[in-house]
Amino acid sequence: MDLALNDEQNAIQELFHEFAADRIRPLAADLDENPRFAKELFGQAGELGFYGMRYAEPDGTGMDMLSYLLAVEELAWGSLGVAATCTMQSLMGTHFVHRHSVGEVRERLLGAALRGEVIGTICMTEPDAGSDLFSMTTSAVENDGQWLISGQKTWITAAPIADMFTVFARTGDKELSIFLVERGTEGLTVGRPIEKMGVKCSLTSELSFDQTPATCMLGHQGAGMESLREVLADIRLMTAALALGVGRAAYEDSLAYAQERVQFGKPIHKFQSIQNHLAEMRVQLEAARRLIYWAAWRSDQGMPSADESSMAKLFASEAAVDVCDRATRIMASYGYASEYPTERYLRDARFTLVGGGTSEILRMNIARSLTR
Ligand SMILES: Cc1cc2nc3c(=O)[nH]c(=O)nc-3n(C[C@H](O)[C@H](O)[C@H](O)COP(=O)(O)OP(=O)(O)OC[C@H]3O[C@@H](n4cnc5c(N)ncnc54)[C@H](O)[C@@H]3O)c2cc1C
Repeated sequence: MDLALNDEQNAIQELFHEFAADRIRPLAADLDENPRFAKELFGQAGELGFYGMRYAEPDGTGMDMLSYLLAVEELAWGSLGVAATCTMQSLMGTHFVHRHSVGEVRERLLGAALRGEVIGTICMTEPDAGSDLFSMTTSAVENDGQWLISGQKTWITAAPIADMFTVFARTGDKELSIFLVERGTEGLTVGRPIEKMGVKCSLTSELSFDQTPATCMLGHQGAGMESLREVLADIRLMTAALALGVGRAAYEDSLAYAQERVQFGKPIHKFQSIQNHLAEMRVQLEAARRLIYWAAWRSDQGMPSADESSMAKLFASEAAVDVCDRATRIMASYGYASEYPTERYLRDARFTLVGGGTSEILRMNIARSLTR
């Protein structure tokens, strides 16, 4: 595997880095303090083509997985909250619509969604069904050729501002199917945003469905778990790249701080205990990057990448939280102050431990693969 980026990948990285530095970072602290959907940034990411990167032409630009992950890392370096909303749109919020919608629905929604004009979501989690998705109770019943959905979803990213909802629902004892529901449909209630520790401008809320008519089924009846498995490795890799981005931001800030801050007559980076933190942080980020690139490379070669993506996601998210924690230690009281972004990085990074599967679930999956 060659870790060097090609010209196109370098250009993508540079484009999204500039966007993150010039547009996202100046707004990041305010978006954390006064959480709102950053519509302007969401639209600008669409203008840069971010939402269509994963999809083949003519719908999208059909970029390789590594190029997509480079863009994700830069967005997360700018703000993990902004990146969380944008990545939802580029992957799970549009994936099943791209894969399965047809005719008028596709015409009306897909192109607009890939430009960032129509906002998508994925609705799987329920109050009593998180990691154990198969225990979901939201159901869909066919009545006169119309699927009616009833049940409750929670923690749905972008739900407060979304136009379309990709909903997993039970269509039989042992089967889950996927439906598209549009905002404004009778029987759909969007709850108020859930207050949370981090990624605050990535708004999430509950949804309830009361015999809500679906616009259409996405894929065939009972295809829910099989369709989800097709995209699970991509979700995990994407989350790993989010973790790498926020971890790198914390590392860079604390390295700069350690060179400026003088105590006992020396810059603090001259103290071995601070050097130990910085060395550990560097190693963790480099190792995370290599696991991510390795899994992306396998994916781009058309090789199986489920286990590699789980390993990358597990390692990168745990590393990001540790790196952000170490950054706050290096900066001590300034690392604790809201005036600096470091404490936000730490709060935000914890999201990557949950999104895309918790560390506990990933360890279980990786261990199972050893004896498969
Ligand atoms: C900011 C944010 C955004 C989100 N966005 C979305 C979204 O857009 N759409 C969506 O559908 N969901 C979303 N989620 C929900 C997320 O996918 C779930 O939180 C996640 O699947 C975990 O479920 P849970 O929180 O119910 O935890 P639980 O599954 O209840 O887990 C609780 C604890 O038990 C552990 N555990 C559970 N089962 C096992 C096991 N078999 N072995 C060992 N340990 C186990 C877990 O690792 C965890 O530590 C979001 C969550 C957050 C925080």
